[in-house]
Amino acid sequence: TQSLQGKRALVTGGSRGIGAAIARRLAAEGADVAITYERSADRAEAVGAEIRKQGRRALALQADSADASAVRGAVNAAAKEFGGLDILVNNAGIFRGGGPIDAVTLEDIDATLAVNVRAVVVASQAAVAHMGEGGRIINIGSNLASRVPDAGMSLYSMSKSALIAWTQGLARDLGGRGITVNIVHPGSTNTDMNPADGEQAEAQRARMAIKRYGKADDVAALVAFVAGPEAGSINGAGLTVDGGANA
Ligand code: NDP
Repeated sequence: TQSLQGKRALVTGGSRGIGAAIARRLAAEGADVAITYERSADRAEAVGAEIRKQGRRALALQADSADASAVRGAVNAAAKEFGGLDILVNNAGIFRGGGPIDAVTLEDIDATLAVNVRAVVVASQAAVAHMGEGGRIINIGSNLASRVPDAGMSLYSMSKSALIAWTQGLARDLGGRGITVNIVHPGSTNTDMNPADGEQAEAQRARMAIKRYGKADDVAALVAFVAGPEAGSINGAGLTVDGGANA
């Protein structure tokens, strides 16, 4: 049998990239999957259609992660549609304010903190109201959360670093309810955010021990394992998928 048979999941930012790969993978393991998106309605519907084709229930919800009430609404809508929630993957994220620190705007700071940090807190809070024993919260961090190898990424790195302590603390908060909380740190992964043929790609590849850009499916495979029944003792942990870039 599939490892996530009968489980109900929500993946934020599931219309493209790593989030879409996670949504498809959770469905392939037997879960019903809701996704949120900001702008890509067509892509989100396409991911939903693929999930339904696998025989699972799917829901595509427009919800800007910068809007706390929209995030809460999406979590509650998914739980209502599926009759509960077992897995939350906080994946939606943005890279803003790259480049010289003098050019970082207040808007970059607010948007980064709202989407990469506040939405994770809000979604988790809303989700645990619907979760029971065996629940799983999986945050998508970054290998830039624990090591900042270059200039021009301080703001982004700070936002992802905040999720490490949040993950550890929430694991403590929810241990008594049998819910695990973990953080998966992708390294350079070929998506719209970080294309393998982009301007910064060569410098990133040079830092890796295995000099090959990651695929969204590499991250999805680990998330599916952490979401599954064999991962019950993995808790408050950071798991890196970065080709050895941080080694
Ligand atoms: P993409 O930019 O390729 O895709 C981002 C996804 O998140 C899209 O589905 C997008 O929806 C959604 N999203 C973005 N902003 C919002 C918002 N305000 N509200 C709701 N949804 C939103 O990113 P990746 O797939 O590359 O990244 C996914 C996660 O992995 C992020 O948290 C990122 O920081 C992290 N990461 C990525 C790495 C990489 O190399 N790619 C490395 C390390 C971490 P829409 O289509 O509607 O815009």
